[in-house]
Amino acid sequence: MTHTTCSVLIVGAGPGGYAAAIRAGQLGLETIVVESAQLGGTCLNIGCIPSKALIHAADVYASVVRSASDNGELGIHSENPRIDLATTMAWKDGIVRRLSTGVDHLLAKAGVQRIQGWARFLDGKTVAVDTSDPDAPRTIRANHVILANGSRPVELDDLPFGERVISSTEALALTAVPERLVVVGGGYIGLELGTAFSKFGAEVTLVEASEQLLPSFDAEIVRPVARRAELLGISVLTGTVVTGMAASGAAVNIKAGDGSTAELPADRVLVTAGRAPLLEDWGLEELDLKRNDSFVRIDERCRTSMSGVFAVGDLTGEPMLAHRAIAQGRLAAEVIAGKRRAWDKVSVPAVVFTDPEIVSVGMNPEQAREAGIDTLEGRFPYTASGRALSMADTDGFVRVVARADDHLVVGLQGVGAGIAELSAPFALALEMGARLEDLADTIHAHPTRSEALHEAAMHALGMALHL
Ligand code: FAD
Ligand code: NAD
Repeated sequence: MTHTTCSVLIVGAGPGGYAAAIRAGQLGLETIVVESAQLGGTCLNIGCIPSKALIHAADVYASVVRSASDNGELGIHSENPRIDLATTMAWKDGIVRRLSTGVDHLLAKAGVQRIQGWARFLDGKTVAVDTSDPDAPRTIRANHVILANGSRPVELDDLPFGERVISSTEALALTAVPERLVVVGGGYIGLELGTAFSKFGAEVTLVEASEQLLPSFDAEIVRPVARRAELLGISVLTGTVVTGMAASGAAVNIKAGDGSTAELPADRVLVTAGRAPLLEDWGLEELDLKRNDSFVRIDERCRTSMSGVFAVGDLTGEPMLAHRAIAQGRLAAEVIAGKRRAWDKVSVPAVVFTDPEIVSVGMNPEQAREAGIDTLEGRFPYTASGRALSMADTDGFVRVVARADDHLVVGLQGVGAGIAELSAPFALALEMGARLEDLADTIHAHPTRSEALHEAAMHALGMALHL
């Protein structure tokens, strides 16, 4: 077969594309998805899932090392632990394979045709497919198109990717722990992977251009993470930029805010300076798409400036998160199916899988004040939590931000061990328009770390029980 037609053509089977495809299939639309790599996109293959697997392995290893060096607190002893990163990576690859196969089954169950190959637009409704599959069509014409091409790591002009200079993709495939790792960028990936490699035993230096790690989060939330990084022995240089490789090729040059320069020896340099939408080599120039900076501009129905052409996920801007891509993919499919849908989310939760973890939903106190809201705030520190004490990890807190007049919750943030799982009740509270009283009057099971949410609301109302 050389040519085929369909109702919905989706380019890219990452979280945005595969969610759109499954939903379109469920809604009875004849759907084709074209993906050049393994199903699951960045998130499943080289992003969220492998990084979280590695972080988990690093946590387990670090706790074993702690008991070996033994300050005896928990009475656990183990001797001579060592890390075999090749085995860890093989385990991680198994998880990725399993999930990618799962996506294939889900697409098949929804009646979606999967084509392995590279799609290039000939016009707004037609793509040519470069594929090695003899049975696959070479051109596809569709009534509706969903662009879900995703993103790629930003490459720095002065520090091009090469053998020693790597992106997160190569970092997630290393089979030996680098002795000295310089991480360029103290954002999401830099901190998540930098912490994991430090726990595996690498000597990690993290260089961040801003004055604070994780500059998109407020200083109070980031403080426990910065403190833990220091305890782990990570050397953190804020207000500093990496300006390129040193002449020796075995170190990077850095420049601090005061103009002073230095060299940092590095066996590997992990560049995590952000991600950019993938715009190259798929025929974007054949389409008449309006842009928001470099991103493809969409409206509240994920429609681009071209009729019948939708876009979702990282291609469309910040926050570049898998759960936003999934929600957009579902939305685009439902709009194409004729349902009355629009993006009306109160918030996209942000979770950083650092040590300890960070969650932020809605507005932080400063953002609420900037929005002209007179606020009530409540906090509960994990030092006062029985569960946190019994888990030997009391760093962190939960914070609630509400309107002073009617107590509507406008933001929830937290930092602490395992707090990623609180992103669900935090987001639910905002989407359902919860008041402080709703949180305070909900019985939270004891002893759990989630009691901090209850206590933070009680604190905001001036009736904290355990503070
Ligand atoms: P992608 O997942 O990038 O998928 C796009 C797909 O399209 C790719 O598979 C690509 O091969 C394919 N494609 C592109 N063009 C074509 C073409 N012309 N023809 C055929 N196929 C094409 N987000 C979170 O929410 N939580 C996390 O914990 C998290 N951790 C991350 C860790 C790392 C190391 C990285 C790099 C990212 C992480 N992210 C995380 C971000 C998350 O991976 C992205 O937001 C998400 O994958 C975006 O989904 P997407 O569908 O827009 O694009
Ligand atoms: P990021 O935007 O989170 O952080 C990049 C950091 O690099 C910034 O703090 C920036 O100031 C710094 N920087 C840029 N150039 C620099 C230079 N020359 N020297 C020193 N510092 C420099 O980007 P990222 O960490 O690459 O992650 C990309 C995206 O992937 C994130 O924005 C996020 O959307 C997604 N992601 C999400 C998760 C999660 O949800 N847990 C995890 C990983 C990645």
